[in-house]
Amino acid sequence: MSYTNSSKKKVALIDCNSFYVSCERLFNPKIQNVPVVVLSNNDGCVISRSTEAKKIGIKMGEPYFKVKDLVKKNNVQIFSSNYALYGDLSRRVMKVLKGFTDKIEIYSIDEAFLDLSHIKDEQVENYGKQIRERVLKWTGIPTSVGISNTKTLSKVANHIAKKNKAGVIFLKKNIDTILKNFDIADIWGVGRQLSKLYIKNGINNAYKLKNISNTWVKKSTNVLGAKTVMELRGIPCIDLETEETKRKSCCVSRSFGKKVESLDKLKESITTHCLNAAEKIRTDKQTTRAVTVFIRTSPFDKNRKYYSNSITIELPVATNNSIELVKTAISGLKKIYKYGYFYQKAGIILSKLRDASEKELNLLAPILENKSKPLMRAIDFTNAKYGRNAISIAQAGISNDWKMRREHSSRIDTASFDFLPKINI
Ligand SMILES: [Mg+2]
Repeated sequence: MSYTNSSKKKVALIDCNSFYVSCERLFNPKIQNVPVVVLSNNDGCVISRSTEAKKIGIKMGEPYFKVKDLVKKNNVQIFSSNYALYGDLSRRVMKVLKGFTDKIEIYSIDEAFLDLSHIKDEQVENYGKQIRERVLKWTGIPTSVGISNTKTLSKVANHIAKKNKAGVIFLKKNIDTILKNFDIADIWGVGRQLSKLYIKNGINNAYKLKNISNTWVKKSTNVLGAKTVMELRGIPCIDLETEETKRKSCCVSRSFGKKVESLDKLKESITTHCLNAAEKIRTDKQTTRAVTVFIRTSPFDKNRKYYSNSITIELPVATNNSIELVKTAISGLKKIYKYGYFYQKAGIILSKLRDASEKELNLLAPILENKSKPLMRAIDFTNAKYGRNAISIAQAGISNDWKMRREHSSRIDTASFDFLPKINI
């Protein structure tokens, strides 16, 4: 069966190569050509690997303790995740990409779809090269660029571009040859469950999925499954979400590096999370109507009793005022905290988010808002300039010994003068 392709649409997927590793390398020339690995929160699992680390056989998602021997034997450089750094560099990369077109969907911290329909076929590969070169030159981050008719095919193209020296692939001709060698589990949108189902039915590569009958796919999977098949045929079905669709809720939570027993320590952590969440929604120009606090002990600790609880408090007036939100969160925490437990995780969710410009039908609202706006603006400005938590509130504590385990952190924060990289000459 063959499907002709009349669509002129062109989508590029730009994906940063080994993003977290690349971020660490930016400020550390010594780790350029050696195996490097970045670990997840609390130094749990491998979440980013350099090409050298991949060659040694370190797998994605593997627990750190399992690869410790390999690490030692091959002198692999280990880093704890440093999201302050990655987040900042991600923003820089996306800013460069936005310079090419405003039809952009930021898909994850290190990936974005760009609509390149306005570029001619014979020029688009060269255009991809320009994108790649500019991102590298302006941010120092290497990327791969995959271009095709649909988002799903641009993902396939990107996969191939990753292994290609030039780093750019425009997938238009010989698509079937490539799809025949493309593993079913590597297709965008085909998760573990779905790939199991496909393999059970003898569909083990992208080409076979492309040529599956419409009736079968509609009957056996869901709408998304059918869309994936259409997209493999070169028919665009999944639109670019270019308009920044604002979030409906904002959650900040962390597991503790060391279990926490006292209410004071929990207060410190909830306050810090709440301040971060409040800053996030202010950045997105949103306000919240409800604050949820949750705490729990470890479900795997067989020697101790398990406790988990949460509380949601509705606010009379939508706000993004840090002080107001922390006060509410702490009052909630006091209601659910129980003495005698060893807590492993605490977090906060701000929900019922709305546009800050939406007017409140409440007589008190304008008075409260006018009081808090300049203060919050001053806090955000100072923290952006002088480092996170430069201005905080006393409740957030100074010791913070409940914080995440980050034994291997590069301690670089591009938003903080204290953590500028030091170079010994
Ligand atoms: Mg990547």
